[in-house]
Amino acid sequence: MHLRCLLLCLIFGLLSLPVHAVERDQAIIDLSQHKALTAGKYANFFQESSAPLTLQQAIEQFDSAPLNMGSGQSLSLGISVAPVWLKVRLLLPANEDPLYRISVETPWLDHIDAWLVHEGEVLRHVRGGDALAYSDRPMQYRYFAFESSIPAGETVLYMRVETVGPMAIPLYISEAKLATQRDVSSGYQYGFLYGIMVALAIYNLIIYFSIRHREYGLYALYLLGFVANSLSYTGQLHTWVIPDWGPYFQDWMDIFLMITYSIAGLHFARVLLNTRLYAPLLDKLTIGVTVVIPIGMLISAALNQLTIALLLAFILNSSFAVLFIVLGHQALKNDVPAARLFLVCSVTAATCICISTAAVWGLVPYNDFTFKLIELGVAFEAIFLAFLLAQRFRLAEIDKQIAERSARQDALTGLNNRTGFEHLVYPVWHQLVRRKRDLSLVLIDIDHFKNINDLYGHAIGDEVLRCVAALLEHGSRRGDIIARWGGEEFLLFLPDTNEAQARTHAERLRVLIEDAVIDSGEANIQFTASFGVCGTKDGLLSETKLNDDALEHIINLADKALYDVKQSGRNSVQVASEVL
Ligand code: GH3
Ligand code: MG
Ligand code: MG
Repeated sequence: MHLRCLLLCLIFGLLSLPVHAVERDQAIIDLSQHKALTAGKYANFFQESSAPLTLQQAIEQFDSAPLNMGSGQSLSLGISVAPVWLKVRLLLPANEDPLYRISVETPWLDHIDAWLVHEGEVLRHVRGGDALAYSDRPMQYRYFAFESSIPAGETVLYMRVETVGPMAIPLYISEAKLATQRDVSSGYQYGFLYGIMVALAIYNLIIYFSIRHREYGLYALYLLGFVANSLSYTGQLHTWVIPDWGPYFQDWMDIFLMITYSIAGLHFARVLLNTRLYAPLLDKLTIGVTVVIPIGMLISAALNQLTIALLLAFILNSSFAVLFIVLGHQALKNDVPAARLFLVCSVTAATCICISTAAVWGLVPYNDFTFKLIELGVAFEAIFLAFLLAQRFRLAEIDKQIAERSARQDALTGLNNRTGFEHLVYPVWHQLVRRKRDLSLVLIDIDHFKNINDLYGHAIGDEVLRCVAALLEHGSRRGDIIARWGGEEFLLFLPDTNEAQARTHAERLRVLIEDAVIDSGEANIQFTASFGVCGTKDGLLSETKLNDDALEHIINLADKALYDVKQSGRNSVQVASEVL
């Protein structure tokens, strides 16, 4: 049984225990009608009040006192309760004599004794439970189980179960060949489920180690935690890995495995949803739950207080389901992109958990599907969370592109800034120089721009800057590279353009700017700009100019020419005097 489900069972179990205390005629299981069934609701049970009883004493108590009748599919009586005696009546009309398997499908029960009694005679007594060495158990199986033929007529199954942990007894009775088929198909199902989970975990670990984003690592831990948890509560880990390490080790290992995935899951959720940014208190609460409870459990382990540790683990695991939904809800309220899908996943998983829990309690039909729905739900959740990570990866990629672009772009005009300009110019520059082609630079500065700001305000100043940028773009050819070089300065790089052509081009742009009008609402504003030009004359840059500073040198020459224009009255084009 899944531990989250078990928790709910235990809570309901503790609340509703008195409801069981109803005496009624014990139903009998007709084995010719039921080839395989969970026998919880056919079981009479009582709990030992003091010293351990013998079978004879237990039979007397079953026959004399008013008894409890199982009402759900599985008996769940709480944690660390007194040993339980069960009685189930089996009826086999014809002497068909097939082999039956009787099993209790929780792997952590410490001591289980089972007797088959026919016409007052004990046919078989079987001892099991995880306190016994694996090799001493009646079947080399992950749960307590034994196989036996049953004689015609009525046979009574008595069981005594004693355990420190949760007293949950899902008793399953089935024809042995059906039980084997069921084992094979559940082997495939678990293989499929774990295969997906482990592959996803490895994949995300690889991503984590390559890009070091915590959410991928936490997601991988969450998946591995789920698999470890499932291996543990289905008894598979005990069977394969640690068959004979004893009940103490198994009990404590189960407890710590069952919280690993809650802890990793909660941290994954808060990192994925960035909870710290908009819900700092909830974030702290989540961290608190994942730190305080495990510390409490470690202290309990040091003091060997299994009951307290179990309660703490159940609190953590139930907080996990609730916190997952609360975290998703908060994220949705704060428009976190991943929130909607996250909520769909967590609510689906919670619904599956509820259905499986209801099935164990007999509120909806109990079968392999409703029982395993819990695992389907969690698998669904895990796989869809992988989609979320992929979506996040894509968003991060887009953010990166935007950041790169804005690092190279001037926000006001949309032109290249200096970095963007250099990034674009250098490759073209090297091509042109190698092929001995012409190139020119034009430096442009708006005249008396400060006055525009002073007279009409900064906003209109910005408007003028945008207008000049648009005119420069509009008036340029494809391949020209334009940048906002400073406050009200612009720089043009003109490939395949000699000095004379650059001068003509600059003159055209000067006129465009001179003719432009901006309506400020109060006045029509006009403005001019000055141009400094520097370019090659016949496609040749002299060898001495081909060093790394060549571009900077040419810009300086254009700047000098621009300075000359400013000195001689502005609004005109001046070519650099120094020959390239
Ligand atoms: P000159 O003709 O000699 O170039 O005179 P000028 O006023 O254009 O030059 P100056 O360097 O004295 O003033 C430039 C002004 O440009 C000063 C600064 O506040 C303004 N400026 C720089 N960047 C921006 C901007 O992004 N928006 C606005 N509105 N003004 C800016
Ligand atoms: Mg200026
Ligand atoms: Mg200036």
